[in-house]
Formats: sequence, structure tokens, C-alpha cells
Amino acid sequence: MEDMIIIRPPVEANSLLVGVTEGCWWNQCRFCGVYINQLTGEIIQKYRIRPIERVFKELEILKQRYGDFISTLFMAGGEALSAPTDHLLKILHKINELFPHLKRISCYAKNLDILRKSDEELRQLHEAGLTICYMGLESGSRRILKMMKKGTTPENMIKAGKKLMKAGIQLSVYIILGLGGVEYSEEHAIETANVLNQMNPTIFRFRTLNIMPTSELWKDIQEGKFEIVSPYGILKEQLTIFKHLNDSVTSYVFNDHVSNYDSFEAKLPDEREFIIRYLEARLRDPATKRLRHKGLLHM
Ligand code: SF4
Repeated sequence: MEDMIIIRPPVEANSLLVGVTEGCWWNQCRFCGVYINQLTGEIIQKYRIRPIERVFKELEILKQRYGDFISTLFMAGGEALSAPTDHLLKILHKINELFPHLKRISCYAKNLDILRKSDEELRQLHEAGLTICYMGLESGSRRILKMMKKGTTPENMIKAGKKLMKAGIQLSVYIILGLGGVEYSEEHAIETANVLNQMNPTIFRFRTLNIMPTSELWKDIQEGKFEIVSPYGILKEQLTIFKHLNDSVTSYVFNDHVSNYDSFEAKLPDEREFIIRYLEARLRDPATKRLRHKGLLHM
């Protein structure tokens, strides 16, 4: 996989990484210049489904190297679920044959790729061992999804999330704090809470918007068309989200990304009030106003 750009959720840091797809078939989200330089059009990594023989060969090598010391495996690639179901099932069966003691097999999944699969296909993937998918919700606001060229709608996100969970696969969604900029900060928080209320994912996680120099959003900022939300504003967005969640949301929440200005985890709805009180205290603390944007150059 030496030729492959590997992006993985922080929680998969100790997992075995097996490349299933490369690149991204969409490549248009304005905040993402991972696989294409959106400013020059240069392709950094082309989208493709990796040949099955190559995946099998890498799995054999990994088996020799790590034996049975592995308990979790991440099927890498920005769009693993875009591969045909038969292809994924063959890979999952091979994984199970070589690593029979895994506790978790996971991958990224775009909402449109989930919607393209039938309930039966998703059920087969679950039965073959796919435990959890990480889906980028990013925002629950129709306007912000459109503005960021996410290529989908809040309705699709909700439908895809529910469909996946109905098949028995756990759903972990990512929310990008600050994605609406200063102008749509409140709308971003309220509409995201609305989607979470309807979706009730197994898990949701936060990360904070950082601007990649290869993204269109980078140019927008240079041209003064997008104003970055301050760390104080980011914590306020989080508070607004928790205040607008209702009791039907029973998700686990992880605020564990390096880009965030705080770190916590909670189980809803029981710990929602506690998180609200905690974030209110953070916002009252004068030191919070002095926090500076981290300015990371990756997502
Ligand atoms: S955020 Fe995901 S779907 Fe959007 S361009 Fe980047 S890799 Fe593709």
C-alpha cells in the first residue's frame, strides 16, 4: 500500500489498514483537497477499486507480519463502500479466514454509496463481518452542504444512516464544526442537531474545520469570502448542538479529534445536561476567548 494515501479515523490508529479503494470518485467538497488539488486540478490520487488479487496478497503479507495480534481492521480508502458488494464480500471472507479473531471491521462510507446498495446487500456485508461505517455528515444544513459541494442533502444523510443501521451495521458520523463559517454558524449547529434528532446514529464525532491549501475553501478565505469561526465560536456551536438535541438521541459522542478545542466523551441522553453545563462553563471562562485557531493544514 506504499503508493496509497491512507486517511483513517483517529479511533482506528491501532487497526490493521487494508486498502480497498484509492482516491475519491466525488472529489468536489470545497474543504477537501486530499485526493485532488482543487486549485490546480492536479490529481493527487486517482479513484479506483483496488484489484482483488492485490488486496489478497497484502492481507497474506499482513497475516505473516502480525499473525493473531490484531483485533481491529480498517478497510482503507475514502470510498470503500463504493466497491461492488461481491468484491467487498470476497475481501471480508478472506479477512475472516486469515484473521478469525477480529472484534471490529470498519470502513468509510459515503451516504450515496450506502443508498446505492440494497437492504439485502448491506445485510450480507454485516453478516460477513462489517461492524461499523464512518460517514461524513459534515453538516445538517442544506445550504451548507450545497455551499460546500457535498453533492447530497440532509434527507439523503438521514436515509442512508438509518438504512445502514437497519442492516445491523453501526453508524459513526462526523460533524465538521465551523463548516458554515461565521455567517452560518448558528444555522450549522441547529440544522445539524435536527439531523441527529432524526438519524440517531450509534456514534457521532466532532472535528473542527481546518483549511487545506489544496482546497477551494483556502482560496475563498484568501479572497475574504469565508470567515473562519473562532475557537470560542466553535465551542458555542457545540453547545447549540447539544441544546437542540432531544431525548430520542441515544448516541455515544466522542470529541476526540486533534483539531478540537476540547476533549470529552458522553452517552446520550443521560449525559447531555452534564455536557451542556460543562460547555457553558468553558464559554464563561475568560481564557476561552483568548484561544487561538489551531491552523492545521490538514482536515
Ligand atoms: S470529503 Fe470525502 S467525499 Fe468529499 S471530496 Fe473529500 S474524500 Fe471525497
